Amino acid sequence: MNKTTIFAAALLSLGPILGQAEDKVHFKDDDFSGTGWSEFVEVPDTGGWEVIRRELGDLAQGVVQEVTLEGDGGLFLSAGRGSYVSLFRSGGLIYAVRTRDGAQSLIEQADADGTIGLRLGFDGAFFIYEYRAGSGWIRLAKSDIVGVVPYTGGISTPSRADGMSGYRVVELESLKGVRFGYTNTPKIPGTPWVVHDPFRPQPRQIHPGTVTPRDEPGRPPSDAIVLFDGTNLDAWEDGKGNAPKWTLRDGYFECGKKSGTIRTKQKFGSVQLHIEWASPSEVKGSSQGRGNSGVFLAGLYEVQVQDNYDNLTYPDGQASSLYGFRPPRVNASRPPGAWQSYDIIFEMPEFEDGKVTRKARITVLHNGVVTQHGVEIPGILGHKKTRPYREHGPGHIQLQDHGNPVRYRNIWVRELKPVQ
Ligand code: MG
Repeated sequence: MNKTTIFAAALLSLGPILGQAEDKVHFKDDDFSGTGWSEFVEVPDTGGWEVIRRELGDLAQGVVQEVTLEGDGGLFLSAGRGSYVSLFRSGGLIYAVRTRDGAQSLIEQADADGTIGLRLGFDGAFFIYEYRAGSGWIRLAKSDIVGVVPYTGGISTPSRADGMSGYRVVELESLKGVRFGYTNTPKIPGTPWVVHDPFRPQPRQIHPGTVTPRDEPGRPPSDAIVLFDGTNLDAWEDGKGNAPKWTLRDGYFECGKKSGTIRTKQKFGSVQLHIEWASPSEVKGSSQGRGNSGVFLAGLYEVQVQDNYDNLTYPDGQASSLYGFRPPRVNASRPPGAWQSYDIIFEMPEFEDGKVTRKARITVLHNGVVTQHGVEIPGILGHKKTRPYREHGPGHIQLQDHGNPVRYRNIWVRELKPVQ
C-alpha cells in the first residue's frame, strides 16, 4: 500500500463506521474576492506575510481546512498564545510546522512544483498535514495537537491571495465539537502528564478478535463467588445498604435514571474479577458522556467503563483506563451495544503504621486483550485530582451510575489468598 492509499483508507474509515454523511463544506471562498473574510491582518516578524483569519469556533475537532495553490503560501490553525500549526510552500518546498508555546519544530517537508492542494485537519488528538500534487491526497505528516479547542484558521500568503483558490473549511460531522481533557489539573506522580491530559498520546484502537466474551455468558470457575448469574441482584445493594434500583432484565441489569451507584454486599481484598458490560447501542453524547460507568475495586480504584468505540476522550479516562492515572495499552473496545468483558486481577495495597508499604497493583484484560499489566497504582484515583494513599482494608466492589444506561452481566470473583 502506498502513502496515498493508506491516507484514503484512513479517511474513508470515518464515514462507514458511524454511518455519517459525506464531509460538509462549512465555509468556501473560491476566488478570494474578499467577500466573506472577516479580517486581513499584518503579522509582525513574518517577512511581510499577510494573514487572513477566520474564527473556527466550536468546529475545531474534525475541521479540515483546504486550499489550492499555484505559487507560495499556505494554511495555519492557531490555538493562540504562540501555539499553532502551519502547512505552506516556499521556494518549491512544502513545510509542515508545529509550534507550541513558541517552540517551533519542522515536522516534515516535501518537494512539490506546479499547482498543489494543501490541507490541515484533525485525526483524533492529532493534527494531520496533507498535500495534493496530482490526483490523490498524500499525508505529509502528523503531530500532536498544540492546544485545546477552539482554533483560529486562515491562509498565509506572500502576496494576498495571489495564485490561491478554492479555500474551504470542511467539517467532519463525526467529530464536530468534541471537547475533552483538562490542562489545569495536578501532575500525575511519576509521569510528565497532568490528570486527564488531552495531549497524552491516545491508545491505538485495535480489533479485540473474539477471545471473550462469548455470545452467551460462560460458566464461572467452581471456586468463584458468583455476584450475578442473570437471575437476581441479591449480592448487591445501594450506597445505603438498600436493594439496588438498577433494572433487572433478561439475563442482565441496567443503570436507569438516578439508579445510584451500587456495590457488592460483601467486601473484597485482592481478587480476580470477571465482569461483562455493554454500552447503549443507541449512541448518545460524546467523550465522558457516552456509555460511562465504572468498576471500583475495594471501592476506591476505578477501572473505567465507557463507550470508546470511535469516541475520543482524554486517554486516562477511556475504557479500561485506571481513571485519572493510566490509559490502556490499546483501545480494545467493541462497538456500542456489544457485550464486552473485563478480567481484572487486583492486589490490595499493604500498610504499616498508616503508611503504604506496598502499593496496589492491577492487571486488566479488556475483551481478552491485556490493557494494564501489573500496574502499580500511585494513590487513590479520582476526577481531576490525585490523592495519596490512606489506610484501608477490603472494600465493596462498586458499579458506577454515571447517568448512562450501561448494562452488566456474568459477574464473578475469586478471592486471591496467599499461597502456602
Ligand atoms: Mg466512570
